[in-house]
Amino acid sequence: MSERISVMQGDITRVDVDVIVNAANSSLMGGGGVDGAIHRAAGPALLAACKQIVQQQGECATGHAVITEAGNIPVKAIIHTVGPVWHGGERHEAELLEQAYRNCLDLAAANGYRTIAFPAISTGVYGYPKEQAARIAVDVVYKYIGIRPLPEEVVFVCFDEENTRIYQQYLTQL
Ligand code: ADP
Repeated sequence: MSERISVMQGDITRVDVDVIVNAANSSLMGGGGVDGAIHRAAGPALLAACKQIVQQQGECATGHAVITEAGNIPVKAIIHTVGPVWHGGERHEAELLEQAYRNCLDLAAANGYRTIAFPAISTGVYGYPKEQAARIAVDVVYKYIGIRPLPEEVVFVCFDEENTRIYQQYLTQL
């Protein structure tokens, strides 16, 4: 396993990294799950920053990512990405999930951030099968950092035990 990748179970708003990733929806207006937790912890400054982005460039398409300030969360920035809704696998879900992870890594690197934490994008309300989503997440990150200096460290923050076990198992196989 790469020493630059780790997995932990917990709340992503409490992880000590440069930048955390939010599994947002296209409106960037907050919602349930990790999105709700991040907006609650960050406070109104985050919603204001998201509104400004939507006003300037429209909604965030699936697979794309944008970066904002972090409000009251003690990290340097938040990257919001929109993962695909699972429709059975025939609507480019895998490609879109890969794209979401890659765009987050690109944004973190472009801003010079060294450490980044990801939630298990799309595996909550969006219904992506957890094993398949974990495999994509780990593969994209592993390939990415294998050829680039930044980000130096990537943490997968799992909220539930099932995802934690799946990620741990897959990471030890690397
Ligand atoms: P999506 O709409 O992309 O499926 P969700 O927020 O519903 O987004 O779920 C994505 C993942 O985030 C799920 O695995 C869920 O268990 C997890 N999650 C929920 N709250 C938190 C949190 N505070 N920190 C980290 N992960 C979280």
